[in-house]
Amino acid sequence: MHGKAEPGSPGSLREANRNRVIEALRELGVASRAEIARRTGLSRTTVSTIVADLRQAGLVVEQDGDGPPIPGAQGRPPTMIALHRSAGVAVGIDFGKRHLAVAIADPSHEILAEEKRELPDDYEAQQALDAAAALVEESLAAVGAVREDVLGVGLGVPGPIHLATETVGSSSILPGWVGLHPASEMTRRLALPVHVENDANLGALAELTWGAGRGCRDLVYLKVSTGIGAGLVIGGQLFRGAGGTAGEIGHTTIDETGDICRCGNRGCLETMAGAAAIAALLERSRGGEIDAERFIELALAGDTGCRRAIADAGRHIGVAVANLCNLFNPERIVVGGAVGVRTGELLIEPLRDSVRLRAIPTAAEDVEIVPGRLGERAELLGAVALVLHRGGSVPRGAQGAAAGGAGR
Ligand SMILES: [Zn+2]
Repeated sequence: MHGKAEPGSPGSLREANRNRVIEALRELGVASRAEIARRTGLSRTTVSTIVADLRQAGLVVEQDGDGPPIPGAQGRPPTMIALHRSAGVAVGIDFGKRHLAVAIADPSHEILAEEKRELPDDYEAQQALDAAAALVEESLAAVGAVREDVLGVGLGVPGPIHLATETVGSSSILPGWVGLHPASEMTRRLALPVHVENDANLGALAELTWGAGRGCRDLVYLKVSTGIGAGLVIGGQLFRGAGGTAGEIGHTTIDETGDICRCGNRGCLETMAGAAAIAALLERSRGGEIDAERFIELALAGDTGCRRAIADAGRHIGVAVANLCNLFNPERIVVGGAVGVRTGELLIEPLRDSVRLRAIPTAAEDVEIVPGRLGERAELLGAVALVLHRGGSVPRGAQGAAAGGAGR
């Protein structure tokens, strides 16, 4: 008995406002009524009425313990509320070079399950997709959820994604994935809506939701690994650009006469500061092959040459980041990725110096450059966050109860 209300009627407005409150709560996890009003632009009274209806329908619960006291405010801290688990769970899947991981979170952002499976070297994409579907079913059962409870599935894949077509682009890591349409492959297996996103954007969403970017509205996540990519969050939303290629900071020109990059340009940041570039530099001086894992290990043990190579990479990255600061004026930059996470201040300190030297002073003062907190979980948790930040209505399982409670 909850057919769509006529567009423009009071009923449709109420439904639209209700959905805005649900979406804001899903993004914020746990929030006060005042925060929801700020986020949605609705009045405090409207928010309170909608929250009361949602509570009656069992979709919203008050959290134990009060929120943090507001500086300068009189009286008790505000009561915090969150969506109940019956308002749907979010599923994330991440495929790595040699692993597959699945996580499930409820709409208050609590992680209910997190499972990881090793995969053989050069695994077949189709087999990995089958294994992922099985692990999702298993994890849902373990937390007592059914398919009807699932809001959506977020997906991270081991290669570049063309966001316009959602296909995997050329990948030097796993050739079996090239040309594949992972979202529809997963939808076919799970009969659930699946959304795919690139690794830097997933990292940005994860750090924004659970990590070093919490509370930020304008955030940049830098993934420093074999490639160098940025995930841009502007006004609390992921910024993808017209075709989904925003954030390709690794292909910023640093040296116009530098080496030819895999993108065809010359002297890209990646040719000077990507893991392969650092390794190549060290191979020349040390002789013999060296990979990222090894040069990081040596640097952490005090090897001067390896420390110098990482510091120089940090300085080069800082040149591109200074330009980014001048253009976007972010409040925080979170540094992650295999190289970013493990080298910590060895990379970040010179990166900061380089930004301070090159960005316009006000932009440099506004930005805080910090290491990521989620390490190698960033992409998996980002896949979960992708679902929580996507919007959309309450899943089928909860629709009946919600409509019954809201219809007055
Ligand atoms: Zn390039």
